[in-house]
Amino acid sequence: MTKFIFITGGVVSSLGKGIATSSIAALLQAQGYKLRIKKLDPYLNIDPGTMSPFQHGEVFVTDDGAETDLDLGHYERFTGISAKKSDSITSGKIYSKLLLKERRGDYLGGTVQVIPHVTNLIKEFILDESKLVDFVLCEIGGTVGDIEGLPYFEAIRQLGYELGKENTIYIHLTLVPYLKHASELKTKPTQHSVKELRSIGIQPDIILCRSEKKIPEHERKKIGLFCNIKEENVIQSQDLDSIYKMPLAYHHEGIDRQILKIVNLPYNDNADLSIWKDIDKNNKLIEGKVNIAVVGKYHSFKDSYKSLIEAFKHAEMYHKCKVELIWIAAENINDNNVSEKLNNVDGIVVPGGFGKRGIEEKISAIKFARINKIPFFGICLGMQLATIEFARNVLNISDANSTEFDLKCTNIFDLMQNQIKDNNLENKSSKAKIGGTLRLGNYKCTLEKNTKIQNIYKSLQIEERHRHRYEFNVNFISEFINSDLEFSGMSSDGKYIETMELKSHPWFIGVQYHPEYKSRPFSPHPLFISFIDSAKNKLNSSLTS
Ligand code: GLN
Repeated sequence: MTKFIFITGGVVSSLGKGIATSSIAALLQAQGYKLRIKKLDPYLNIDPGTMSPFQHGEVFVTDDGAETDLDLGHYERFTGISAKKSDSITSGKIYSKLLLKERRGDYLGGTVQVIPHVTNLIKEFILDESKLVDFVLCEIGGTVGDIEGLPYFEAIRQLGYELGKENTIYIHLTLVPYLKHASELKTKPTQHSVKELRSIGIQPDIILCRSEKKIPEHERKKIGLFCNIKEENVIQSQDLDSIYKMPLAYHHEGIDRQILKIVNLPYNDNADLSIWKDIDKNNKLIEGKVNIAVVGKYHSFKDSYKSLIEAFKHAEMYHKCKVELIWIAAENINDNNVSEKLNNVDGIVVPGGFGKRGIEEKISAIKFARINKIPFFGICLGMQLATIEFARNVLNISDANSTEFDLKCTNIFDLMQNQIKDNNLENKSSKAKIGGTLRLGNYKCTLEKNTKIQNIYKSLQIEERHRHRYEFNVNFISEFINSDLEFSGMSSDGKYIETMELKSHPWFIGVQYHPEYKSRPFSPHPLFISFIDSAKNKLNSSLTS
């Protein structure tokens, strides 16, 4: 019988429920169990695709093209299992399904209600395909007490009742704050949070206590006593300097043993945790540093670049060389101050993004990287702008641009006619056209032989995840022939340009896709490895010159 683990959060958000869920999953995998992780988000958007990165952080894209919560990225990175569309749900999705059924007459004249109709759909989602695995881990977004979350808590309560105690575990993550002036850790918020959970009928089996200090024995006992939980199931989750240390930390706290005990499954004392131990070891070996400038516009909210940051962490662990990301707000750059702003960096990245703000400034940074032979990595929007910069400043197409930023420009990036046709958007307003045309998810790409990128991938056929709508306008391809810019990769259906590089530059590569989504701690992405390698070379050559 499949076991279900429900992970909820209390007191405040951002305590690391996603990392806790991923770490528990990694430990159960090490114990030899098969699992699946699902994310349930109570908000009313259909998916986070339309939410501002400032509000919701990065939109993580799955192989099958779903725009999902960034936690799914953590699940993938910790477990190596690629997430699917059917791993995430929001209230928006549940309600649209529900209302469709209502209109179709599926409810046969009955009154459609949150309980049981919404809760039944939530349960259906949780149980779907669950028989294929030993464990389904379900992370409920938000914190207990949120109004939107109530149907989810009710649904998981019901499942506990229906599936039985030995098949369901409730894990609650709370905050145990440290009050400096009193030199004390405070357990009261945890007690209140558990009280809230119990008031809706859920008694947690395990409490994870996030704190900046070690939680002393007597405080643990107190939490256990007041929350009705065995002391060994009150598990501390102390702040760590790397999220990849979390699985081992939880293991030392005994979470894997306790979970398996609750559901009556065997625990293997000799589980292989070497990959996690190696991470710990390698982190200690990190020496030296490269400075990488990230020129973007969501800097005040780093969660917007979650997968990018993690991909650089993976490259850092691979090279055992610190990758210091220097965040440069695009707005603050112009042709006059660019050398001062980007002086002393060993590489420049222009990551993905949408909208007009900061575009010209990013182009200034790209020009600087091109002329000064600084390793440059353009991701999605970064690739588009690198191509535009080259068209303007080398090919002298002075108004080269994307129609995303200027409808009257020489449109070297544009919505493609087949995108519009494929989505039946010919007679729609320009706004509606934009709505239906994002290219999402995994697509095959064929790389040109003997190009830099082909050498990096060591393969001619690759598959990467996409999230963009504007494409290089192939009508302009002839302008680039015989120039230093080579289009080195093409979608395997021959329709779209996927990658570009500069032949005479040590490392100047732009990709229309998002390689960062696929980088994992145990298999860092080759482009990130190679880019950091080239940044290290630049650093070494500037030290010796
Ligand atoms: N705004 C660009 C497009 O839609 C790039 C998108 C991105 O960087 N993810 O094509």
